[in-house]
Amino acid sequence: MTAPRSHVLHRQLRHALPIAASARGVTLTDTQGRSYIDASGGAAVSCLGHGHPDVLAAMHAQIDRVAYAHTSFFTTEVAEELADELVANAPAGTSHAYFVSGGSEAIEAALKMARQYFVETGQPQREHFIARRQSYHGNTLGALAVGGNEWRRRQFAPLLIPVTHVSPCYEYRDRQAGETPEQYGQRLVAELSDAIERLGPHTVIAFVAETVVGATAGALTPVPGYLRGVRDLCTRHGILLILDEVMCGMGRTGTLHACEQEDVVPDLLVVAKGLGGGYQPIGAVLAQAAIVDAFERGSGLFQHGHTYIGHPVACAAALAVQRVIRRDGLLDAVKRQGQRLHERLTQAFGDHPQVGDIRGRGLFRGIELVADRGKKQPFDPALKLHARIKANAMARGLMVYPMGGTIDGQRGDHVLLAPPFIVGDAELDAIVERLAAAIGASLAELASQAPQAR
Ligand code: PLP
Repeated sequence: MTAPRSHVLHRQLRHALPIAASARGVTLTDTQGRSYIDASGGAAVSCLGHGHPDVLAAMHAQIDRVAYAHTSFFTTEVAEELADELVANAPAGTSHAYFVSGGSEAIEAALKMARQYFVETGQPQREHFIARRQSYHGNTLGALAVGGNEWRRRQFAPLLIPVTHVSPCYEYRDRQAGETPEQYGQRLVAELSDAIERLGPHTVIAFVAETVVGATAGALTPVPGYLRGVRDLCTRHGILLILDEVMCGMGRTGTLHACEQEDVVPDLLVVAKGLGGGYQPIGAVLAQAAIVDAFERGSGLFQHGHTYIGHPVACAAALAVQRVIRRDGLLDAVKRQGQRLHERLTQAFGDHPQVGDIRGRGLFRGIELVADRGKKQPFDPALKLHARIKANAMARGLMVYPMGGTIDGQRGDHVLLAPPFIVGDAELDAIVERLAAAIGASLAELASQAPQAR
């Protein structure tokens, strides 16, 4: 456990953390010798697991070659190669990659790119972003402003740029009886259309959305046709579409980019986490040629930059991660093991009275917990079921990513699973067994402490 007088300002000040001592494959071990199966890849980061020899070798080699070169003086071979690799495998029309150090920075860069695009093309009156409730785009001020995670936003609200938020695509809770998934999707597109009309179509810069919602609501997948409808609507009004695939992208759902499964090409595609698999901090914005062409014809620059953009060691790690995924056919593994995980979750929780929904795609799965399955009634938020599940899972040697506020930032609990792409059958079985035990223990605690809570 952390030293009692740690000088690190940890995320939580009243909560002792185990100290990670080593990590290999899907397992982390602490200094007490306890092992944990990494069923969430941290926060959907460690797509290749830990200690992958090819990635470590690529990083070592890059450190020996050039560990750092400021991007206003030099480019590096490794940054160029990574951009080539990403553009070659990106949605049609993608021409450039802009490298930053994580997801929030990538979102900030995308917001500024979108705004600058309209300044360069003679539409400076475009100044609004539209995004969705129950989304997360990062913790820096611009990213927090577009995000729709009420709990994270609340105390910083006075500092945030105004953003219009529309409904998430949350089929389990919001699709009405008698409405097909397609009709529900079209209803959401109509809601977005109304928001655009209210703001004035010529004042909107972009619509920002996670292709598959991650941390805030637990692997919410879009209904068929919804994102296609959003894309068409944006195109009709000359509004840019920014898809945030920081969590759901880079193979996590079984295709390199989650939007491939929606047959949608965004103007800006934002990736991070699985791009470098946690070996180095790296994120990227993949931009369509039309946007970069406008910069080239206009001011000749993208007015942005940080000290560590395009960091060579981060690029080397990401390039190695992406090459291993391709060489080892890991997108197929994600599809296959994702299906197995779904089946195991369905066996364990399909009839569970406190599990209302099992959802997700590939190795990106969520379960939503409910006090009353018939009424879809959530647990009392004060019970902090999600935090109990996390603690009970850790006590059983399992890392999962539970969160509260699933429904509206206040109510609802879910558990997100995002194991490494190399996860084996036996490990998947152990993950589901330990998760079932952790959920069972957490519900037993609630039953013993507050039987009336349900
Ligand atoms: N966007 C999404 C969808 C995320 O899930 C996250 C982080 O969880 C971010 C952006 C922010 O990324 P980072 O934590 O690397 O800044």
